[in-house]
Amino acid sequence: MSEGAVKKEEKPRKFQAIRGTRDLLPPETALWNRVEQTAHEVFATFGFGEIRVPIFESTDLFARSIGAETDVVSKEMYTFGGFAEFSAKVGEGRMEGMLSEMSPEEMISLRPEATASVCRAYIEHNMQQLPQPVKLYYMGPMFRRERPQKGRYRQFYQIGAEVLGGSDAPAIDAEVIEMVMTFFDRLGLQGVQLDINSIGDRNCRPQYVELLRAALLKVKDKLGPDSQRRIETNPLRVLDSKLESEQAIIATLPRIADHLCEDCATHYAAVKHQLEIRGVIYRENWRLVRGLDYYMRTTFEITAKGLGSQNAVCGGGRYDGLVELLGGPPTKGIGFAIGEDRLILSLQESGKGAISADRDVYIAWMGERAHATAIRAAKDLRKAGFSVELPPVEQKFGKALGQADKLGAKYALILGDNEVSEGLWTLKTLADGSQVKYTEPDLLEYLRKQRAL
Ligand code: ATP
Ligand code: MG
Repeated sequence: MSEGAVKKEEKPRKFQAIRGTRDLLPPETALWNRVEQTAHEVFATFGFGEIRVPIFESTDLFARSIGAETDVVSKEMYTFGGFAEFSAKVGEGRMEGMLSEMSPEEMISLRPEATASVCRAYIEHNMQQLPQPVKLYYMGPMFRRERPQKGRYRQFYQIGAEVLGGSDAPAIDAEVIEMVMTFFDRLGLQGVQLDINSIGDRNCRPQYVELLRAALLKVKDKLGPDSQRRIETNPLRVLDSKLESEQAIIATLPRIADHLCEDCATHYAAVKHQLEIRGVIYRENWRLVRGLDYYMRTTFEITAKGLGSQNAVCGGGRYDGLVELLGGPPTKGIGFAIGEDRLILSLQESGKGAISADRDVYIAWMGERAHATAIRAAKDLRKAGFSVELPPVEQKFGKALGQADKLGAKYALILGDNEVSEGLWTLKTLADGSQVKYTEPDLLEYLRKQRAL
């Protein structure tokens, strides 16, 4: 059999995006751009500057900051060897198997979140020498090996911000929250609900966790396997449980608000007061804990409409010890991360995601002279900011107008030999089929006015 014959029999493999990842396509990407543009604008009004950090970092950075016991680090990270001899192992590497072969220092992971990277950058670039606090925001893809479902992906996008250094004044916590709420408000996000809590600090949290653990041990038999396991690994996470059968039991557990030390209690009360001054409406939720280890004191979560059980669009909180934990000077810190995929989904579900990707003008031209004029007209219209479709080859007017319709163009500019020699261009409004002739400058003027309406 000749080589050619063999090739014919082979069916070319049909590639698909990897499970948990997806393509974002137009016109939806226009909505993503609008959301990101709004973030740039709103965050700038609060004095935040953009930071762009790498997509992968030392595995150790995430293990130390997020916590080796957390789900994110223990099972959800994409980890691989940083050196050439290990690069063949790229893939869905899990910490357990790989660690035996490599020391954590030589491993790298795709970032599951960006707070650790921002803190690393703060230390690496000596930002503590800048005026404090340093206010940074970021946006971009994150990677977690979770079970894909609506609003949960393995490559997803976050928009987040961090305030590092300076004091832990409650006004900082409140302003950060006010900024997210302002951003959501600007986007028209519906059904926004802000939950806040304080989870104490190094002084009071460990005692509370022990108290909680003791209380949980008493009811261990009534809990599901996940919660049973968490009694040992991370009792706070039991409060997060969505299991119907556990709700009544959880309601009887000790609440951290009753066990905060004086400093934490004062801080929490002041944060609430600061939110009230700012007109930010919140709900206290004693069961709100965060999945990452580094949080302390203020924690918050924002939910929105139309997202089913994956309804958290933003999680955040204070993490005063994190920079120090990563080898930097003692530094206060607070921040949040918005799930952009869910934000977009919610906007779409509530009809706030409409974006017009339609062309303004479709240029229907016929003849060589008209083509040259059409090219010039397209250049001028685009310069004036209009979206223009200029067909690359000549088409009969009927076909061109059909095409203009399909693309949702508002106008068709008709350029034939007559129009070019008369210097009068025909503009057809596709919605009502009306046609008017304009000189070139009048046409531009007319379109400009229409746009301003
Ligand atoms: P969840 O409870 O939904 O798993 P989380 O506590 O793991 O969220 P954070 O680590 O605080 O989330 O991240 C902040 C935000 O990022 C979440 O509120 C959510 O909107 C978004 N997010 C987290 N994981 C994913 C994912 N796998 N896919 C899409 N968005 C995500
Ligand atoms: Mg999660």
